[in-house]
Parts: sequence; C-alpha cells; structure tokens
Amino acid sequence: MSDHIHLYIPGPIEVSQKTYQAMSSPMIGHRSSDFQALYGGIQPRLQELFGTTQPVFLSTSSAWGVMEGSIRNAVAKKVLCCCAGAFSDKWLDVAQRCGKQAEALQYEWGEPIRPEDLDAKLATGEFDAVTLVHNETSTGVMNDLAELAAVLRKYDDVVSIVDTVSSFSAVPTPVDELGIDVLLTGSQKALALPPGLALFTVSEKGFERAKTLPDRGYYFDFIEFQKNQEKDMTPSTPCISLIYGLRSKLEDIFAEGVEKRYQRHEKLNGLVHDWVRGHGFEFFAPEGYRSKSLTCVRNNKELDLPQLIKLLKTNHSMVIDGGYGKIKGQTFRISNMGDETEESIKVLLAALDDSLSKL
Ligand SMILES: *Cc1c(COP(=O)(O)O)cnc(C)c1O
Repeated sequence: MSDHIHLYIPGPIEVSQKTYQAMSSPMIGHRSSDFQALYGGIQPRLQELFGTTQPVFLSTSSAWGVMEGSIRNAVAKKVLCCCAGAFSDKWLDVAQRCGKQAEALQYEWGEPIRPEDLDAKLATGEFDAVTLVHNETSTGVMNDLAELAAVLRKYDDVVSIVDTVSSFSAVPTPVDELGIDVLLTGSQKALALPPGLALFTVSEKGFERAKTLPDRGYYFDFIEFQKNQEKDMTPSTPCISLIYGLRSKLEDIFAEGVEKRYQRHEKLNGLVHDWVRGHGFEFFAPEGYRSKSLTCVRNNKELDLPQLIKLLKTNHSMVIDGGYGKIKGQTFRISNMGDETEESIKVLLAALDDSLSKL
C-alpha cells in the first residue's frame, strides 16, 4: 500500500517525488538574474506546449484569478458565457460580480456547447467577449474546441477566453492555430503540480482590448504581465517553488514526448471507459463529447458513494470524487490525468472492484 493517499480526483492530483524535490530548490530573488534565467529558460517549452509564439504568462493564483482577470481585461461591452456545468456557470456569476454586462448561453449540465448556437448569439453583434470552458470538469464533457474556435474566429470584435484548466497537456490545445485570444490553465490538473500557479497566453487582439479598459486592476493586468515579460519577470513576487516544479515537469513532458503524452491520456481514459461499460455504469457525458482526462460516471446503480469512497480510501489509500455541485451523489469522477500509467490505473480499477464487492 502507498505511503500516502493517491489522488484520482480531477484536481489536485498525484504529484511526483521528482517534482517535490525540484520545488525544494533554494530560494532566489524574483528580481535577480537567476530568476530571469529560470523564467526565460522555460519559455520556449511553454510556448511549444501552448502552440503559440506569444509569451506564456505565469500568475501566482489559482486559475480563477486569471478567469476573473480575463473578464476585467477583455470585456468592454458585454460577455457571452457558454454555460453547461459548475465551472462554466460560475463564470457568468464572476463576470456579473466584476460589474460587466453578461449573458449565458445556457445548456443542461452534461450537454456540450453547440457551435451553431454560439454563432447565432454572436451574430447579434451584442457581444465583444466570450467565455468557454473546454473541458467541463464537473460533468466530464469535453467540448469540440476546433469547431467552436472556428465560429469564434469569424468575429473580429470578439475576444475569446478559453479555460483549458483540466484539458491542458492531456489533449492538444494549439492556441495560435485555433486563434484563441486568451487561453488559461492551472497547475494542479493535468500538469500534475501542486495548486497555486496559473498559466495563460494573450493574443495581440487581447492586448489591444485590455489597453482600452481603464478598470483592469493591478494584480491581473495583462499589460503589466506583458511589460514584465520583456525582462523575464512577473509583476509581483511569484510562487518561485512552483516554477521550479514547472521546470521539472516540462523536462518530464518533453522527455516523454508531447504526442506520446496525449496518446497515453487517451489510452488510460479508454481503460476507465472499458471498466465503466463492463460494470453496467453509464457515462454522464454523451458519446463524442467525453473528456479524455477524466470520466464522469452516472451513478445509475444508486451505489452508496460515500461508503465506496471510504472503503477505497481506508483499504487502498486512494481517492476518487463523489460528484461536484448539484450532481454530487448522482455521479462520481475518476481522473486519469498527469503522470498516471497503465499500471496505476489498473491498480485503481482493481481497488474499485474490491471496494464494490464490499459495499
Ligand atoms: C479546477 C478548474 C477550475 C478552477 O481552478 P482553480 O485552480 O480552483 O481556480 C476552473 N475551470 C475548470 C474547468 C477546472 O477544472
């Protein structure tokens, strides 16, 4: 049995010993040449992973910091929030709390965002920004980013803001090819780092929009990030330990190969899917829109989920998730992101079988 609880929840996830070791590197000053070397040194690999020639910014916050910041930097007129789950629904609330005009393109939880609906909404000309969650972690729905991005590219006045928090580095999200204006992610999902760091890119259009807005604030001001980037620095003191962890993780990702990493996620996700089907469970997400980084399983057998999770934790030192928000208890979620292997997923599935037999 493991010496710690292995997290198979969709974030935070299991963090490797190598990463922890990297994070305990001695501290350096954030205005020192050592920091500039650390920051500048990881930019090329970050840009390759994001598929962009734009800088990749590092924000010392969770992803929500940048999600809120994006609203402040991008919305002048009115934002359309594509809503179909806990994270995407929340973005509408956050936009309103920032004092912005905002409207939902609302779907039932578990449904994907339809490109034709997005197109029809944007054709009204009412909106100058859109928020979209690529992989809705609460429902296990992975939207068709290529199709949705094709619609977004038709609208020159619309700044697209895309959350890839639970899909980034598990599936390709090539920023420049897709033409996404703001793409953001967080450290504690597929990047397999501890929480506390958000990563994002901004297009020229995104910067141009930001410059026109007087109430961007300071901490998440895109223009501040851009100015500091020119010196390989961040606006305020960053989580330097996590950046050491990120450097180590980039070594891992490129040693494995980015394509191989995507293939591994697909394969491990397939193992979980086989288990779901083999046990007569159903998927919460419809066919064709199922996430590759996690699986949201419908509790169609009405299992006692708290008990299942307790058995798994007590007997096997593993944790899965018992459902998020209003679908807690009706669903459970299994993550296959990060450093998981065929072996570690098979061990989990065997432990789940054992726990099911004891329910
Ligand atoms: C986890 C998650 C977030 C929130 O991330 P925080 O790090 O808690 O701010 C946002 N969006 C999605 C899709 C997520 O999975």
